[in-house]
Amino acid sequence: MSDETWGRLTRRQMLGAAGGLVGAATIASEALAAEGGGGEVKLPSISAQTEPESGGPPNPEPPQSRVGYAIVGLGHLSLEEILPAFGETKKSRVVALVSGDREKARKIAQQYGVPEKGLYDYKSYDRLVDNPDVQAVYIVLPNSMHAEYTVRAFRAGKHVLCEKPMANSVAECQQMIDAGRAADRKLMIAYRMQYEPHHRALISLARGKGLGTLKLFSADNGQNQGDPNQWRQKKALAGGGALPDVGIYCLNAARYLSGEEPVEVFATTFSTPDDPRFKEVEEQIAFTLKFPSGFTAVCSSGYGHHQSRRMRLMGSEGWADMDPAFAYHGLKWRLGRKSHDNPKGEDVTERQFPQKSQFAREIDHFSDCLRQNRTPHTPGEEGQQDLRIIEALYRSAREGKPVKLEAAKKLDAFRGPPPSEQG
Ligand code: NAD
Repeated sequence: MSDETWGRLTRRQMLGAAGGLVGAATIASEALAAEGGGGEVKLPSISAQTEPESGGPPNPEPPQSRVGYAIVGLGHLSLEEILPAFGETKKSRVVALVSGDREKARKIAQQYGVPEKGLYDYKSYDRLVDNPDVQAVYIVLPNSMHAEYTVRAFRAGKHVLCEKPMANSVAECQQMIDAGRAADRKLMIAYRMQYEPHHRALISLARGKGLGTLKLFSADNGQNQGDPNQWRQKKALAGGGALPDVGIYCLNAARYLSGEEPVEVFATTFSTPDDPRFKEVEEQIAFTLKFPSGFTAVCSSGYGHHQSRRMRLMGSEGWADMDPAFAYHGLKWRLGRKSHDNPKGEDVTERQFPQKSQFAREIDHFSDCLRQNRTPHTPGEEGQQDLRIIEALYRSAREGKPVKLEAAKKLDAFRGPPPSEQG
């Protein structure tokens, strides 16, 4: 951006742009577009060649050429993580909001530069068909609503990025997949961890035999839930308790770290009697997943204990730890392997990759897929497989015995090509 362009922006717009707000970025880019600007900006080097380079300016795409999203549901996740993440996306922008609360939607629209014509409620949602600025919808509603709003978006000709869990049943997942195929539109499930640098690095390490042969995986993901009246505590809306909400992270990680699919699962559930939070859904679940190679996952998930989000992957020649493993921020890696220098010792190394919004990576991956006509790394089939396993785990807990699952024909049977490593 030229100095003159900055000069024409107000102080508020400049502060907004510096903070990465999409609304302000839109204003700045409109100024640019009026000048016929855009493209790559390079700066002359300040330091001598002996010094590390500062890395160039980011050169984000002008908003009008990015993929436009409608955010459906303005609850905690949308407001606290997803909308702010658009400030870090490079290929995506918010152009519409869908909410039952017009006043809230208006306030949020002002914060993020969404025009009044981009505001919808759950009835006028189908009129998205008439809004060419919206190429994709991001569904961030209670789990039981994912299927309906995905099918309606496909009917309106939009692509769909849908929060996890994909739906409340395998059958609903199938309806979503079928509707996407019929409309020739793409469906991706928002498994943010599969786009996160620590998890991607661990996938590469594990698949490259950096830990030897994978043997065991242990993971826990849970937290104390509050209000017993929220949708997460209602079976019809949530589909279940801790398992589909947070236990799904452990189950999904066991699958993507190994690339295998479980052939036998076992689960046991527990709910504290008389706790109003667990009248309809399980408080906690402990489960095992047995994979064809013998690799075994031992996982737990709870809604009644203090937050804990950790995992350990164990191979014949080493282990990898992450704690926290499933949080939005602050992930780090510890790796333990036999020491090269001291045959009686163990080398433990710690590593932390640059932190960037997991949601920004995931959203930009979907935008890439739309523009390059590629299958997303986590398509509907990936979400449906988790539901298949969730249904088997609940059956196992009900019947008190292991449940067998059909073997997959290949590794990564339900995933599309991996995301680009540049985020
Ligand atoms: P939330 O309760 O904070 O928000 C839900 C939104 O849906 C609210 O704006 C609410 O008004 C709206 N809504 C519309 N109809 C509703 C109805 N009948 N009952 C209740 N709410 C209704 O929930 P959230 O935490 O934002 O979760 C939304 C989705 O995102 C869920 O599918 C959840 O599993 C998923 N989620 C994913 C992550 C992640 O890390 N990827 C984290 C949290 C939530």
